[in-house]
Amino acid sequence: MSTLEQLQAVIDKSQRIVFFGGAGVSTESGIPDFRSVDGLYNQKYDYPPEQILSHTFFEKHTDEFFRFYRDKMLCLDKQPNQAHLKLAELEQAGKLLAVVTQNIDGLHQAAGSRRVYELHGSVLRNHCRRCRKFYSAEFIKNSKGVPTCDCGGVIKPDVVLYEEGLDDSTVNGALSAIMQADTLIIAGTSLTVYPAAGFIRYFEGDTIVLINRDKTPFDRQADLVFHDKVGELLGQIVVR
Ligand code: ZN
Repeated sequence: MSTLEQLQAVIDKSQRIVFFGGAGVSTESGIPDFRSVDGLYNQKYDYPPEQILSHTFFEKHTDEFFRFYRDKMLCLDKQPNQAHLKLAELEQAGKLLAVVTQNIDGLHQAAGSRRVYELHGSVLRNHCRRCRKFYSAEFIKNSKGVPTCDCGGVIKPDVVLYEEGLDDSTVNGALSAIMQADTLIIAGTSLTVYPAAGFIRYFEGDTIVLINRDKTPFDRQADLVFHDKVGELLGQIVVR
């Protein structure tokens, strides 16, 4: 296991950090991790979350999709944690190029981060499928049944569902940032979930830091490895 001093030294010398984060980054904010044993899978619903959050399910059972979505996905009262705040501070200090995240909760922006590539979209953006009018997350939260636009069209969250492709410009932006990075911090992801593993192959910099509660298949390839909570660890870093 690596030490906090080692991590501090890497961050001190880095000038182009890219942070690649997964669900584990937001669990300290009280947002459940889909795939962890104490996450959503163990909660009672008629269908498994993976099925509900698929494009086919959205088309066929739109009402049931939104029932689950409002209940489990729209965590609008959640606040950024130490990880989100420290990353915003690093960007402000000119040491961090970008955050690439698999999360859809918007907490990086809430913490003040500006360059955030949201690979799986965001619950904070919703658009009418017919006329593309924008709707807030609060609108979706407060709507009943299937949320519909003034024009009568169904409103869909800008969240990448299973069976749907990632947004090209988001992917390209994320890969470009990773290719320019001198340090890549991978956190809160087991790296077994698409597209994480493929993305980090583009890194050509000096140091890979891995922070995850559990071991990952990538531990041996990382320069520093921490099996810690992301916010607890990053919260101790001094930005200078
Ligand atoms: Zn519309």
